[in-house]
Amino acid sequence: MNSDIEKLQQMIDKSSKIVFFGGAGVSTESGIPDFRSADGIYMMDYKYPPERIISHSFFLEHTKEFYEFYSKHLYAPQAKPNAAHYKLAELEKAGKLSAVITQNIDGLHTAAGSKRVYELHGSTLRNFCMKCGKSYDVDHVCNGGVPLCSCGGIIKPDVVLYEEALDEETVNGALNATENADMLIVAGTSLTVYPAAGFIRYFKGRNIVLINRDATAMDEKFGFIIHGKVGEILSRIKP
Ligand code: NAD
Repeated sequence: MNSDIEKLQQMIDKSSKIVFFGGAGVSTESGIPDFRSADGIYMMDYKYPPERIISHSFFLEHTKEFYEFYSKHLYAPQAKPNAAHYKLAELEKAGKLSAVITQNIDGLHTAAGSKRVYELHGSTLRNFCMKCGKSYDVDHVCNGGVPLCSCGGIIKPDVVLYEEALDEETVNGALNATENADMLIVAGTSLTVYPAAGFIRYFKGRNIVLINRDATAMDEKFGFIIHGKVGEILSRIKP
């Protein structure tokens, strides 16, 4: 492990346009469960599979059940950034990191101080009325039942559900950052959710590393893999 950290540090020292691409595993050390780990959300026993619950059609057809699941598993107001989030913000401040691309919807990169964050799947912190567009903060949305706007419309979180398209501007920004990066750090993701997982193909450089606790669907694409907890590993890196 020590030699892996040294190798990672050397790569970071040589780089000035690092892009970090992360997933749910980046926030498990903040106490938010991921989807596919043994203690992840997919392993829980639900009447409907979680993929179905967090789909657009389910949201429209079973809004109450959607919000019961969402409030319990995807809304995490008490969660605080961990060492990974803070180290990435430090690297950006030091002029080494050009962007964080995240599949997470918890807002923790911004809370840690990162400025350029592409939230591919949106954010639980933003919510809007589907009828009049009025925005609402997260506490209004997750306080039991189906949240309604003053106009009577249903409030929807600004998160990308299954069956929905990613935001074009966010996608373009993320792809552009990846194409121009001189190092790509991929971490805390099973690399199974598309189109997000396909983004790493846009990286053209040689310095690429995967930091993940378990094996992923794309391990063979990485010459350098560190198996472990991303917060623990990044906490040992100096900007
Ligand atoms: P995933 O659950 O499919 O995979 C998570 C991966 O992270 C696993 O391979 C696991 O081994 C690894 N992991 C867990 N803890 C880790 C740690 N401390 N350090 C390093 N690796 C760790 O997650 P995914 O690939 O991001 O796809 C799930 C989808 O669900 C994403 O779209 C994501 O937006 C969403 N989601 C988001 C949150 C959140 O916002 N925090 C939480 C759950 C799910």
